[in-house]
Amino acid sequence: MRVYREEARVSTSGRFELVDITDIVESIVARSGVNEGIAHVFVPHATAAIIANESEPRLVQDIIDAVKAIAPPEKPWRHNEIDDNAHAHIAASIIGPSRSFPVSSGRLVRGTWQSIMLVELDGPRNRRVIVTVVGV
Ligand code: ZN
Repeated sequence: MRVYREEARVSTSGRFELVDITDIVESIVARSGVNEGIAHVFVPHATAAIIANESEPRLVQDIIDAVKAIAPPEKPWRHNEIDDNAHAHIAASIIGPSRSFPVSSGRLVRGTWQSIMLVELDGPRNRRVIVTVVGV
């Protein structure tokens, strides 16, 4: 069994942003040498997340609006007394820091409308994305 890990850096430019990292992940899977297995995409951050969905500009804005409705940034959260980003921690907790995808015939398996996106919830920041590919 092969285990291949690679880290990518992603710079975000807005407080809320969805960054399409599909090409980054697919190129890492291609370099991994794994033919059949699993690719795990993870952000080691408490205020960012990973999703797999359609990278369509209006939907991207809808997702950001929905995140803001679930965890409003303007609400006087307790954590804001020490660090003005409680909304980002809450949304990141709900969405989650990782997604896993099948790898088959040396390629990442995903639906036509499943782009892999880093969800920035407290940017702009420099984010790390760790991709681990496990298989044969
Ligand atoms: Zn915080």
